[in-house]
Amino acid sequence: MSSGSGIQIPSRLPLMLTHEGVLLPGSTVRFSVDSPRNMHLVKHRLLKGTSLKSTIIGVIPNTRDPEHDTEDLPTLHKIGTAGIAVQVVGSNWPKPHYTLLITGLCRFSVSSLLKERPFVLAEVEQLDKLEQYTTPATDDVAAQDGELGELSHKFYLAAVQLLGMLDMSVPVVAKFRRLLDSLPRETLPDVVASMIRTSNKEKLQVLDAVSLEERFKKALPMLTKQIEGLKLLQKTRKMNPDHEKRVLSVRKGGVFPGRQFNLDEEDEDDDGDDTAALERKVHGANMPEAAFRVCLKELKRLKKMPQSMPEYALTRNYLDLMVELPWSKSTKDCLDIQAARTLLDNDHYAMDKLKRRVLEYLAVRQLKASLKGPILCFVGPPGVGKTSVGRSIARTLGREFHRIALGGVCDQSDIRGHRRTYVGSMPGRIVNGLKTVGVNNPVFLLDEVDKLGKSLQGDPAAALLEVLDPEQNHSFTDHYLNVAFDLSQVLFIATANTTATIPPALLDRMEVLQVPGYTQEEKVEIAHRHLIPNQLEQHGLTPQQLHIPQDTTQDIIAGYTREAGVRSLERKIGAICRAVAVKVAEGHRVTKSEAATPEGAAQQGDKAAPPEMPIVIDHIALKDILGPPLFEMEVSERLTLPGVALGLAWTPLGGEIMFVEASRTEGEGQLTLTGQLGDVMKESAHLAISWLRANAKTYQLTNMVGGPDPLEGTDIHLHFPAGAVTKDGPSAGVTIVTCLASLFSGQLVRSDVAMTGEITLRGLVLPVGGIKDKVLAAHRAGVKRVILPKRNEKDLEELPANVRANLDFITAGNLDEVLSAAFDGGFPGTASTHTHPQLTSKL
Ligand code: ADP
Repeated sequence: MSSGSGIQIPSRLPLMLTHEGVLLPGSTVRFSVDSPRNMHLVKHRLLKGTSLKSTIIGVIPNTRDPEHDTEDLPTLHKIGTAGIAVQVVGSNWPKPHYTLLITGLCRFSVSSLLKERPFVLAEVEQLDKLEQYTTPATDDVAAQDGELGELSHKFYLAAVQLLGMLDMSVPVVAKFRRLLDSLPRETLPDVVASMIRTSNKEKLQVLDAVSLEERFKKALPMLTKQIEGLKLLQKTRKMNPDHEKRVLSVRKGGVFPGRQFNLDEEDEDDDGDDTAALERKVHGANMPEAAFRVCLKELKRLKKMPQSMPEYALTRNYLDLMVELPWSKSTKDCLDIQAARTLLDNDHYAMDKLKRRVLEYLAVRQLKASLKGPILCFVGPPGVGKTSVGRSIARTLGREFHRIALGGVCDQSDIRGHRRTYVGSMPGRIVNGLKTVGVNNPVFLLDEVDKLGKSLQGDPAAALLEVLDPEQNHSFTDHYLNVAFDLSQVLFIATANTTATIPPALLDRMEVLQVPGYTQEEKVEIAHRHLIPNQLEQHGLTPQQLHIPQDTTQDIIAGYTREAGVRSLERKIGAICRAVAVKVAEGHRVTKSEAATPEGAAQQGDKAAPPEMPIVIDHIALKDILGPPLFEMEVSERLTLPGVALGLAWTPLGGEIMFVEASRTEGEGQLTLTGQLGDVMKESAHLAISWLRANAKTYQLTNMVGGPDPLEGTDIHLHFPAGAVTKDGPSAGVTIVTCLASLFSGQLVRSDVAMTGEITLRGLVLPVGGIKDKVLAAHRAGVKRVILPKRNEKDLEELPANVRANLDFITAGNLDEVLSAAFDGGFPGTASTHTHPQLTSKL
């Protein structure tokens, strides 16, 4: 490019029109381009070219209002700056565009337009000498005499004056100082105009000033203005280094070929204090050696990065998190078993077995702090107080509490974080939790471990295993952090609705504590001891304002909730509190406005305020507030036809009553099953039919026309209405038998009996699970008699005394006994007169 007449730019230049600012020779500016012409220019010229020449383009300020921009080319501004594209970055977000970093070389004027599409190409004439920017300072101009020499000297002095007002310890100021002395004077107007705060309009004036003299004349007032502004600032405020730095335009600095003065470092300078603060934090965070080293490395990288780089924010966020994590911050355990017992008792009614086990667990921990014991897992229906016990444990230990909801988590990065190579990567929930609580020994409640999903993104259960394993969790490595964090001080507690869906490896690490549902009476107690006082407080009410009698609570439980726990009960009480709060607030307004009048105030002074009567929630008020009851006792109504029996089912949400219905029509002995059922349920249905057919004679079962085979010429339809659970298939066996026996015999099943039990082909009744929850459900539904397998008799001990007293339990070893207990006055063919072969069998 060098020739006798100095360095030349190509005479044909592609032109980039831009609204984004004015490029002056000697400065470097970042431009974002997205117009079709400019995109073509980048694609077909900058990215395709291989020579240095092809990286030179002409930048022309587009002076047309961007609002009125159209497809056709605007009149070109007469002067532009040829620049060298030093960096091109493409992105598709939020729309396709390129970001160009361009260093201005020299002015040019457009001689003629060669083509407009796909990008603008023009014949240009170079206006500045290029050497001045690339050769070291000479005394050319300084030596010049006359007006120009004077002007340039004045300009130099003004720049020195400006520098004198700035703090030299700020690196960018120091750089400015160095440049001022090393650059040829004729470059100063361009360089200074691009460094100090100037508007685009002002920069355009400098650009347009082709003659050096004029350029000095245009730029000098800008410099003076800056000095005046700074003086004013110093007068009004005490010197503040922050302001000084900002005097220099930060975004657009000057990059000189061959000289290192670039905007990247300027950015960092602007942020210097911030990084210094961050650095101090890194030193103060007391992190382990490995993490500390990583932080220092990242910090070093951060210092070198321009703020505009997306990675800057990423690194910054990372470091912010690292210094915030509680590497060595912990709370001191303060465990007093006596106090813990009181606290657990005060917070929770009933659940004695659970509370006892929790206390044992805490006591052992107290004796052996390094305990690597099992993780407690509370299993039970929603709303039975699992979370609440977890919270109490944290309180008794004086630890922070944090709940991590795992329901629906199916990606291991939810637990372990995303690697930082992803855009928008984040740490996992464990690390996030630690950040939230700010200590390294909190109680983490892993809620709903049974609802963990699985997906292509890896198994979250495996990640959780690592978290819970005492052998591994002292060096748990979140992908985002990428350094180990010691989790061994964290106390983990898990909750689940059922153990059936907890991944076995995980279940293996945990000690399962069943938390069954509550009886009606327990719920009433819980409501009056805990829920009502809590809700009153939350709604700003006092017992003097609202009273809910026990009868009403019972009505709420029976008519408005159907649950094993007390969550919707709590919500209903909340609804009542809200309704009453409105009334109370309205009442208050009346008294206040009365008090506002002088007479009112006087009256209040004389008269003692009438004693406030509480609002009592009776049946009528209850209906007004909550509407008509949602649940009616339907048991007796439903059992008015042959072919209906009441079963008991277990679900993760607690026990449920389940009506099994059967009907028959003329047909060919087909069995149709509808409702929610799994394979096991279908098998039970087939077993039941086979057994009934085999024993049809004994029990005088007939088909529709009185024939001896109940299935002959008959189709059977069995239906399990809502509430049945597919998994719980086998325990419906006895109910299906009873239901079909009723259908085939035309006898009604007793309206107050419910049953559960698995059957065999030979008519034996096998034990089933979930007895407590099932019996509680039966009790809730107003059932009087429960038929259950003989081998489940021991489970009855777990039941509260009042439930046991209210219910009549029949334990059955075989179907004969079931049938005789399910029908009023026994079932024909059963009774003690009939000895069934199965009775002799050893169960
Ligand atoms: P879970 O975690 O089992 O779904 P929660 O712990 O969220 O249930 O309990 C729901 C609400 O019921 C909480 O307000 C809790 O305090 C209350 N609660 C549950 N069981 C009891 C109990 N035995 N004694 C007092 N309050 C209880």
